[in-house]
Formats: sequence, structure tokens, C-alpha cells
Amino acid sequence: MKERVKKQAQESLIYLRKRLPTAFPVRLAPITPKKGHDPSGAKFSGRNYILILREDLTELEVQDCIIHEYAHFRVWGLLQAQTYEHDGHWGIEFARVYTEMNEPR
Ligand SMILES: [Zn+2]
Repeated sequence: MKERVKKQAQESLIYLRKRLPTAFPVRLAPITPKKGHDPSGAKFSGRNYILILREDLTELEVQDCIIHEYAHFRVWGLLQAQTYEHDGHWGIEFARVYTEMNEPR
């Protein structure tokens, strides 16, 4: 991942945490995908929410990925469970995160 994209991702997370707090701190974990199979995603370490970002993503893909996974983190805090459903709870949070990410800063 280009340094500039990584910096942009970190700044987006700082901004989002101010506007839409999460139950645990969000840590960025860039990964180098092997054979193109390792997906980006979200997980919970017990102390942090981990946002896994493939290093081969473009700037726009990184933004999409942050919105998608951050919506999961929000739902995990609200439901106090690590669900990967893309249901109504997730959809509402997705809309909130999407709106914040597209607000002029
Ligand atoms: Zn998902």
C-alpha cells in the first residue's frame, strides 16, 4: 500500500472515531495478500477492533473497505456480538459511516 493511502486510511479512522465512536479502539492492519486470496476484513482481538486492509487496494477501494468494515465495528458495539451479517443493523451503520466519510472536512 502506498504510504499516502495508508496515511489517508489512518486519518479517516481518526475522523470517524470522533464522529461515530466504537466500543474498542480501531487498529489498522495492512496485509500483503498471498495468491490474491486473503481478503480485507474485520476482527476483534479482545481489546481492539482490527481493520485488515490488503496492501494492493487502490485509494477508492480503501475508502470502500473502511466504510464496510467500520459499519461492522459499530454493530459489534451496539449488539455486543461479533456478527458478520449484512442485515438492517449493518445497513444503517453503513449509511451513517458512508455519510460521514463523504462530508466535506
Ligand atoms: Zn462485511
